Amino acid sequence: MHELGIMDSILRTAFERSEEAGASRIHRITLTIGSLSGVAPEALEFAFGALTVDTAAEGATLDIRRNDVRITCAVCGAEYVPEAPVACCTVCGSPGGAITTGREIELTSLEVS
Ligand SMILES: [Zn+2]
Repeated sequence: MHELGIMDSILRTAFERSEEAGASRIHRITLTIGSLSGVAPEALEFAFGALTVDTAAEGATLDIRRNDVRITCAVCGAEYVPEAPVACCTVCGSPGGAITTGREIELTSLEVS
């Protein structure tokens, strides 16, 4: 279960930021998970519960936001949400482009005190 390792590094960042802010408790952690990131939110929640026991984040709320895949068209530069299975630009109709969001696993915000 690689979610355990992912959550471990997310929590490390959260604890660092919390310490920098001079806080002793973490109340809420908000994550943004791209739908192509390959992680299961339920597994992240489980890892969060297991890893925060006896830490400053014990009992904190884990808020997971899903981010849809977005592609930037190589031809016209428009950003669009692809319609499976073939992605074509919704503005000019060109196929493909670069995936701009959808793979991220980000610590979006943190509530501490
Ligand atoms: Zn286009």
